[in-house]
Amino acid sequence: MGEMHNLRCSKCGYGIEANTGIGMLYSEENVVNNFLADLIEDSKLTNQAKTLLKEGNRLNENYGHAIYACPNDFYLFNKFYFQLDPTEFVPQYPCPYCQTTLERVTFAKGSLGTTKLKFIEEPKKFWQCPKCGNEELNEISYGNWD
Ligand SMILES: [Zn+2]
Ligand SMILES: [Zn+2]
Repeated sequence: MGEMHNLRCSKCGYGIEANTGIGMLYSEENVVNNFLADLIEDSKLTNQAKTLLKEGNRLNENYGHAIYACPNDFYLFNKFYFQLDPTEFVPQYPCPYCQTTLERVTFAKGSLGTTKLKFIEEPKKFWQCPKCGNEELNEISYGNWD
């Protein structure tokens, strides 16, 4: 079961509704054989992944929908994260606005009732609202999906 987040900038309201994690149909077999193109939503990346799978790569068990941000302009996106082993291939999703490769973000502590997002690969780098520069988000609603 995955989580559903509705995150909004506490100042201007910019934000994202994002699903994270995996649904109950997301077995490794289903993801590889049936869902891959729909999850990746990028034909070039899908073809890269399919070629690697044909060549004997396996889907790492750590996969699911995730929140990504552009490290350049900080726009937020909901993308599917996965890794293929042993090549350690991970999808590089380009930002539609500036083509910078999107990076995964994770929740960090904000002040009471708010959250911040930080870049997983650069733990000292915090997300900033692309519209107003604020760093804090309110979680408007939270739930589960399957
Ligand atoms: Zn804002
Ligand atoms: Zn960008």
